[in-house]
Amino acid sequence: MPYEYDDQNIFAKILRGEIPCDKVLETEHSLAFNDINPQAPDHVLVIPKGAYVCFDHFADAASDAEIVDFNRAIGEVCRILGVKPGEGGGGYRLIANAGDNGVAEVPHLHVHVVGGRWLGRMLQPPG
Ligand code: 5GP
Repeated sequence: MPYEYDDQNIFAKILRGEIPCDKVLETEHSLAFNDINPQAPDHVLVIPKGAYVCFDHFADAASDAEIVDFNRAIGEVCRILGVKPGEGGGGYRLIANAGDNGVAEVPHLHVHVVGGRWLGRMLQPPG
């Protein structure tokens, strides 16, 4: 079943400028902004400007230019945050939730870049 994109989701509204965001980076195909409810000292969301529901949708349907831009934008956000382990930063975690099991709240692809503190083990037990 093909993905149906809901253009009323909150990140679509941010992209259209209908809702403000605390912008960290903007590139030709991507936008990065601080999460409104940060889970760590650093918590940035990186989204493509295109209408993609989740990561596999993007991987299947986006152009090479969009995919390169998005990945470079994530790397640039890591540089801006100063979390790159190779440059003396403390490290970070990337999270891309999708669907019900992934507990995705917003149906527009977003990668969480989380850091600034020790993040614990990758997955917590259900509860
Ligand atoms: P998900 O659970 O879909 O992976 O994550 C959605 C994220 O979007 C959450 O971390 C939530 O705090 C963030 N979020 C929801 N609404 C807004 C908003 O209006 N502005 C910003 N900056 N973040 C939002």
